Parts: sequence; C-alpha cells; structure tokens
Amino acid sequence: TYVVTDACIKCKYMDCVEVCPVDCFYEGENMLVINPSECIDCGVCEPECPAEAILPDTENGLEKWLEINTTFSAQWPNV
Ligand code: SF4
Repeated sequence: TYVVTDACIKCKYMDCVEVCPVDCFYEGENMLVINPSECIDCGVCEPECPAEAILPDTENGLEKWLEINTTFSAQWPNV
C-alpha cells in the first residue's frame, strides 16, 4: 500500500484524489489519508503529489504512518 505522510498537512492539493482508480482517499481537517485495505498499489498518486507526501509503505520508518492511515481512513469521509 501507499501511505500519506506529514508533508500533506495543510496541503490538500487533492490531485492524488483525482487520479486514484479505486477512490481510497479519506479527508480529515488537515490532511488526507489512504485506506490501506483499498489501495491497489498502482502508484499513480505518488508523482501527482506536489508535497511528495505519498510514499510506499515499504520505505523505512513509515510504520507510524501506516498506522495513522489505517486508523483515520476508518473514521474520515471518503473523497
Ligand atoms: Fe489509489 Fe493507486 Fe495511490 Fe493506492 S497507489 S492510493 S490505489 S492511486
């Protein structure tokens, strides 16, 4: 899965949302998150993000962000 990280905070440029083929972005007050159980790992959102906030969870040190994306995608509205 891909995850949204803290570089997204207060960006919300939303280009990622438009390209995602499975609509798995969820919106909080300050940032977006990806629902890891819906993301199909296509990667098309990553280069669309102007803040470089979207990363594959296989990168080191992203465990915390995977947890945050999982938790908040279950609570926030789909966008
Ligand atoms: Fe959506 Fe693909 Fe990005 Fe996953 S990697 S959030 S499926 S655009």
